[in-house]
Amino acid sequence: MQEELDLKSFKEEADSRLAHNKEIAKKLRKVKPRALDGLFHAAHDQVFEAMDCLTCANCCKTTSPIFKQGDIQRMAKAFKMKVPEFIDAYLHLDSEGDYVLNEAPCPFLAADNTCIAYESRPTACREYPHTDRKKMRQIVNLTVRNTLVCPAVLSVLKIIEEKI
Ligand code: SF4
Ligand code: SF4
Repeated sequence: MQEELDLKSFKEEADSRLAHNKEIAKKLRKVKPRALDGLFHAAHDQVFEAMDCLTCANCCKTTSPIFKQGDIQRMAKAFKMKVPEFIDAYLHLDSEGDYVLNEAPCPFLAADNTCIAYESRPTACREYPHTDRKKMRQIVNLTVRNTLVCPAVLSVLKIIEEKI
């Protein structure tokens, strides 16, 4: 495994680039949707070819995925729990009415940054940080916010910035 990422330095850099990244977001919204998807997907592939998420796990350490009903049922089953029991143990409703974790880091994150619920993890965990999905224009603001959590997203924006 690669060396652990220096998340303190990452956070400092991410905070210092936030205003700049918001300016990039304005430019991104002017790119045609399909071209924008192409830019993101190429940068995503480039960044994740070099990124080992096991050296980071900052998403699991600092934020919660949204748990949809299907996620809750799958995870409760994996942990041999009833759905209400699983919700009582780990989740609460946020201000938007979505189930999220009671705490961060995620209780399913192991000390070596692996996920003990990997096979049954929520869809939101599987899809994070969403830089390889279609219709990226719809989540430009979210993507800028994710630069504060995910070193890969910060790198993706740096690559795209050079191309627009
Ligand atoms: S998705 Fe981003 S924040 Fe999560 S482990 Fe990978 S690089 Fe880190
Ligand atoms: S369920 Fe697994 S992948 Fe999702 S936040 Fe928790 S540790 Fe990370």
